[in-house]
Amino acid sequence: MARVNENFLKLKSGYLFPEIGRRVTAYAAAHPGERILRLGIGDVVRALPPTVIRAFHEGVEDLARDESFKGYGPEQGYAFLREAAARADFAARGARVEADEIFVSDGSKCDCANIQEIFSLDSVLAVSDPVYPVYVDSNVMAGRTGPADESGRYAGLVYLRCTEASGFRPPLPDHHVDFVWLCSPNNPTGSVLRRADLEAWVSWARREKAVLLFDAAYESYIREEGVPHSIYEIPGAREVAIEFRSYSKTAGFTGARCAYLVIPKDLKGCDAAGKEVSLHSLWNRRHSTKFNGASYPVQKAAAAIYTPEGRHEVRAIADFYMENASLIRAGLQKRGFTVYGGDNAPYIWLKTPKGLGSWEFFDELLNRAQVVGTPGAGFGAAGEGWFRLSSFAQRTTVIEALERIGRVF
Ligand SMILES: *Cc1c(COP(=O)(O)O)cnc(C)c1O
Repeated sequence: MARVNENFLKLKSGYLFPEIGRRVTAYAAAHPGERILRLGIGDVVRALPPTVIRAFHEGVEDLARDESFKGYGPEQGYAFLREAAARADFAARGARVEADEIFVSDGSKCDCANIQEIFSLDSVLAVSDPVYPVYVDSNVMAGRTGPADESGRYAGLVYLRCTEASGFRPPLPDHHVDFVWLCSPNNPTGSVLRRADLEAWVSWARREKAVLLFDAAYESYIREEGVPHSIYEIPGAREVAIEFRSYSKTAGFTGARCAYLVIPKDLKGCDAAGKEVSLHSLWNRRHSTKFNGASYPVQKAAAAIYTPEGRHEVRAIADFYMENASLIRAGLQKRGFTVYGGDNAPYIWLKTPKGLGSWEFFDELLNRAQVVGTPGAGFGAAGEGWFRLSSFAQRTTVIEALERIGRVF
C-alpha cells in the first residue's frame, strides 16, 4: 500500500463546521417545522451587482467568438485587472504596489494555504489565537509542526494570544519567529489593527528580518477614517510584508472565485548560506508551475468592481452588511451582552453569558432561539467563552434572530 503523508493525521480541526452541521441537523430532525436562523457562516448572501454581472456576461460572450476568444491567459492574471487593482487598491491610498507585484488567483484560501511553500520547513511561524484555521492547517499538512496537545495547539507553532484586555490584537512575539500571520479586519474577532499597531509590526519585522503575511480579505468593511486598508500604507512594509486580498467578501465573489496576493520585489528571504533570495521570483515560479490562471470572465467581472458604477454598487452591499452588524451589536448590547467587532468588520464577537462555554452557548442558542452562530473555541483555545455572529444575512433574518435572542436571554 502507498504510504500517506502522515502530517495530515496530526490535523485536529476540520472539526468546527462539520460539528456545527451535525448539531443543527440533529436539532432539525428532532424539531420538524421549526425555522432555524443562520448567523454562523462566513459566506455572503447578496447577489453580485449589475455592473459586475454585465462584465461577467461580456467575458463569456468573448469566449463565444473566435475573434475575441481567450485560451490560457497569463498565470499571474490579466494586465487589465492587475493594473486596476494597483491603482485603486494601493496608489489611491498612497501605497506603492506595481501591477507586476500582483498575482491573481481563484481565491484567497488557496493563496493563504500555498504561500508557506516558499519558506523552509524549519522556519518558525506565529499565528494569532483565535485564528482563521487555514493558516494553521496548511502548515501542519506541510510538516512544519509537531502533534497537537489536548487544547488543539500544535508543537512548534507560536501562538499569540488575543485577549479582551488587548482589544483582541495579537501581541508582538517575545522571541524571534520567521513569519507571522496577521488578519485585519479580523475573522473571527472583528477587531482591526490601527496605524500604530501596523507600524509596530512593520518595525518589529524589519528588526527581526521576519515576514508578515497580512490578510486583508475584509478591508472594504473598514469604516473608521485613518485605519489603513493595506499594510503598504505603512512606510517600510514593502521590505517585510506579503498582502492577501480577496473579492469574496468585498464584492460577493465567494461563488465566482477571484483574489490576489501582493509580493513586493523589495521583499527578500535567504538561502542556507545566508544569500538573499527574492520571494517575488520564488512565488512567480511556484504560481506559474502549479496554477494556470483564474478564468477570463471572472477576471473581467472583478475588473468591473473598479469602475465608478461598480465601486458604488459594491460599496452599497458592504454598507448593507455593516448595517446588519450595527443592528446585531446594538441589539445584543441592549440585552446586556458584552460585544466586540461589527464596526470595522462584518463579524460580532460576543462574550458568552453566565460563564457558559462556547459550545454550551451554541447549544442554548440553537435549542432555545433556533439561532446558529459559531463557537469561538473552534478558532483556538483563546476563543473559549466567546462566540462569533456573522452579519452576512438578509435583514429579516437579523431582525428575527435578535427578537428571538431577546426573548431567551
Ligand atoms: C473568507 C476569507 C478569505 C477569502 O477566501 P476566498 O478563498 O478568497 O473565498 C481569506 N481570509 C479570511 C480570513 C477569510 O475569512
